[in-house]
Amino acid sequence: MVSGVSAISFASNPVMRAQAVQSYQEQRNEARQALIDKNYHDIFMHESAHKAAGGPLAGAIVIETNEDGIPVGGHVAIMMPVLNPENPQKTIDDANTVVRAAMAPADPSGQDFRVAAQARNIRAEAEGIKQKKKLNYLA
Ligand SMILES: [Zn+2]
Repeated sequence: MVSGVSAISFASNPVMRAQAVQSYQEQRNEARQALIDKNYHDIFMHESAHKAAGGPLAGAIVIETNEDGIPVGGHVAIMMPVLNPENPQKTIDDANTVVRAAMAPADPSGQDFRVAAQARNIRAEAEGIKQKKKLNYLA
């Protein structure tokens, strides 16, 4: 017996090579699935906070995936109030809901801050109209 010569090198054995490839694929699939689950969970939590705070002004949760099927982002449509001079209080109430919805997640995005700022502007306009109306009634 000569030691060593009967050893089959790993890559020369087609069966073992196939197993190695399979296990590599399995690991890749598990890692991919873990990434999908984690991203989906994080995005869903964020969008759920928007939706819960937005109430009837919020649309459905949409999760976006990349070409590999990995969730990469999401959104919830929100009804931005239109300034209503006849009913500025409704505009103010709706704007407050939009601000709360935009700032609801623990990690608001740049877009979330922009939506909140827009709603605050509309609210400020509505408050101005409300103030004027009061003055008109007093005159
Ligand atoms: Zn957001």
